[in-house]
Amino acid sequence: MVFSALGTSPAGLTQAEAETRQARQGKNLIESEKGRSPILAFLSNFTHLMAVLLWVAGIIAFVAGMPELGVAVWLVNVINGCFSFWQEYRAGKATDALKKMLPSYVNVIRDGQEQKILAEDLVPGDVMSLAEGDKISADARVVRASDLQVNQSTLTGESNPVRKTADAVLEEDLTQAETPNLIFAGTSVSEGNGRAVVTRIGMDTEFGKIAHLTQSMEESESPLQLQLNRTTKQITVFASCMGILFLLLDTFFVGSGFAPAFIFALGMVVAFIPEGLLPTVTLSLAMAVQRMSKRNALVKKLNSVETLGSTSVICTDKTGTLTQNEMTVNHLWTVSHEYEVTGVGYAPKGEVLCDGRRVEAADDDDLLLLVSGGALCSNARLLEPEEEGGRYTVLGDPTEACLLVSARKAGIEPTEQERSWPRVRELPFESRRKRMTTIHQLSEPLDGASRVAFVKGAPNEIVRLSTRARVNGESVEMADDLREKIMAANDAYAADGLRVLAVAYRPLLPTDESIPSSPSEYDPDSIERNLTFVGLEVMQDPPRPEVAEAVAQCHRAGIRVIMITGDYGLTAVSIARKIGIVQGERPRVFSGVELEKTSDEELREALKGEVVFARMAPEQKLRVVENLQQMGEVVAVTGDGVNDSPALKKADIGVAMGITGTDVAKEAADMVLTDDNFASIVHAIEEGRAVYANIRKFMLYILNSNVPEAVPSAVYLLSGGAVPLPLTTMQILTIDLGTDMLPALGLGCEAPEADVMDRPPRNPKEPLLNGTVMRKAFLWYGIMGSLASVAAFLFAQIEGGWLPGLTMFGVGADLDPVYVHATTMCLAAIVFTQIGQVLNCRTETASVFSRGIFSNRQINIGIVFEVCLIVFITLFPPFQAIFHTGPLGLTDYIFLCCLPPIVLAVEEARKALFRHVRRRRAERAGAEER
Ligand code: ATP
Repeated sequence: MVFSALGTSPAGLTQAEAETRQARQGKNLIESEKGRSPILAFLSNFTHLMAVLLWVAGIIAFVAGMPELGVAVWLVNVINGCFSFWQEYRAGKATDALKKMLPSYVNVIRDGQEQKILAEDLVPGDVMSLAEGDKISADARVVRASDLQVNQSTLTGESNPVRKTADAVLEEDLTQAETPNLIFAGTSVSEGNGRAVVTRIGMDTEFGKIAHLTQSMEESESPLQLQLNRTTKQITVFASCMGILFLLLDTFFVGSGFAPAFIFALGMVVAFIPEGLLPTVTLSLAMAVQRMSKRNALVKKLNSVETLGSTSVICTDKTGTLTQNEMTVNHLWTVSHEYEVTGVGYAPKGEVLCDGRRVEAADDDDLLLLVSGGALCSNARLLEPEEEGGRYTVLGDPTEACLLVSARKAGIEPTEQERSWPRVRELPFESRRKRMTTIHQLSEPLDGASRVAFVKGAPNEIVRLSTRARVNGESVEMADDLREKIMAANDAYAADGLRVLAVAYRPLLPTDESIPSSPSEYDPDSIERNLTFVGLEVMQDPPRPEVAEAVAQCHRAGIRVIMITGDYGLTAVSIARKIGIVQGERPRVFSGVELEKTSDEELREALKGEVVFARMAPEQKLRVVENLQQMGEVVAVTGDGVNDSPALKKADIGVAMGITGTDVAKEAADMVLTDDNFASIVHAIEEGRAVYANIRKFMLYILNSNVPEAVPSAVYLLSGGAVPLPLTTMQILTIDLGTDMLPALGLGCEAPEADVMDRPPRNPKEPLLNGTVMRKAFLWYGIMGSLASVAAFLFAQIEGGWLPGLTMFGVGADLDPVYVHATTMCLAAIVFTQIGQVLNCRTETASVFSRGIFSNRQINIGIVFEVCLIVFITLFPPFQAIFHTGPLGLTDYIFLCCLPPIVLAVEEARKALFRHVRRRRAERAGAEER
């Protein structure tokens, strides 16, 4: 009925029909509302506090009869505004590109085959296959449901899962969302699985109708942006106060009159305002995010980059993140025999050996039940290689896929088995239950029943639920010594780091009253009990080769790694030891049950030492995260399932797995790993630290030039005008917005320093502009620049003959070639010192030569640009008039060229001394420890 109404069938649409429908109905897309209009975004760069200040300053300059200055100040404002807009635009483009890298997929049945397609390619009539954690991408009618529960909070605000069924609904007074056989785009599967036929797509869906409401939500600013906003405002206010102070001092102390004093004060204001800071920071965050994406970490929000930099603990799961998630069953175990399974990978090439002899499932009843039970209770599919000599791949859970491979090695063909023992019902796998069940109709009765439940899962769970066991082809009563024997075998494998899954069955006898009569009423409580234990499937899942180094890197970087896994304690500890997470003799191992009984205080005490969390239910991760956060840690947490969402949301950095992760986990996370690899988290942290360091380097550079811009004015003021003003307002603007900009941007692109991961994490409470940056900028680099600039001015002035009584530019001094030469030298000296300083800023403590002095292309371009600019404005008369400059001679250039090497050498000497002292201290500390 449903199928025919939508022109489809349980085998889905054909590919050709789907394409025809798409051509007619379009793609399944929610059209995004236009964000903030680009014009408004552009204008906002001209209306903030600093811009308004500069507009007003320009007006005053006009009114005071200095149109040339007025135009210059406005021009500065326009250039700055356009530059900021351009930076924001580039940052926006970078983040847009990232969004496209997280496409959403759906599993559909087309041409009778299950396949994965882009969600935007869904058409009405498509049959979607839904599993726990899937995002639902279109409105649809459920046609098959196995414990299907859906989270509809995006539509209704109600976060409790709603049960959905395939049955017809006769009640009439139900809202759309309440209708149990309808599911909606924008919601997600929180439990169970099923199939549904798409009824509406794109803007026709319920979600499409309300999309404009959600789209109008503003993106919040990151703490770093807020901090920078605040800092910029504070600096702007400070600069204005300084301007007013200088204006008053000049008017009353030096007495040069309002107009020149005003120009002078304006110069001071402009000198102090850090123009372009905010957009540059946004851009360098966006660039970092792009770099991270190339290293398999997709960051969803720019804020996360800074948090990553201060991460102090990573809570990681094991399977797939630390290990390869390419499972191979290498042993099978029944109470009567132990078998070895040869071959690696998913290729079904290998054999099952017992005491060195090949055995087939057909000759051994227990082995037959073990491998066929494992294979039947599996939803994975084995895909043949596409070309000859290619690799076998899998669709679905690798833990399940390897069971299919072991069955084939034992001579069982899982698809044929499934045909003769068809599945009646599934009780899906849940991390909380740690097991899964499928119910089958058998062709021949087993233990007197024609319907049987196969259960596979964590051995301790299965053994706990088993009342019988298969021994030598017979079903016998489960005794305590048998339980111990099974668990001893399990422990021996687990201690070698192997992953063990137990298989059991239960004959569903019609006479058994504990079993519901209808399969639709089967649930874990009624079915997963009184089991008959069959055996163990033992699989290896080796650690990823790069993980041990990544863990070691974390330890050097002062980051703790804590394993929180659903797997067994012994397996977990063995793997943790192999990759260096656990180094001590006796790590504390918490099991889920034990954690339940532990108080928060005890847990926090344990978290101070070496600890592994095993057999955890995903919900328990949240508790560990909360306690770590209470201990002041910045926590990154990995997760992939629906139930991981609370922990992912609560964590400072939630990390979802891109390959095995569910859509729900990806949505809750701040970062998605496209390769599911732990090492990628560590790379992202490294980038996060580097970006923060780069922003500091950038700040240091632009702040340090304020000092040599301000000191000459102070010299002029303090001498009561006896020393002419060494640097004019136009020249200050030239440095701030001309020569300094490009090299500063280059600092934003510095690659991470070699020792960035050798330092402890940054304290998140520490402000961006910390004491070290301030001291370096204002006292050390600033003083070097001031000395050079004032010295250059005074030498030039004295060399040309001192001109006592000259006040400042604008009252005749510009006509004096000696003064013009001196002030040009002052300007050029600052610019040339800045060349040395930008190279100094590239590293914090390492020698800049160690990373190649000219290895940053952007900085090199910036340096060439600033030198050209200086030559240009000093050489050509029209520019000389605007910038109050004159031509420089050969000796001037020789002097100027000496400045960068000098500042570089002085700072290199300081860095070398610093490194020496640090090394000595470390040696002394090491000796004391010994
Ligand atoms: P991690 O938490 O590190 O990813 P994990 O895969 O072992 O490791 P879960 O997915 O929570 O964690 O699984 C918990 C346990 O449930 C596993 O250790 C295994 O014993 C069992 N298990 C895992 N997958 C299945 C499955 N598909 N069917 C039945 N049991 C399973």
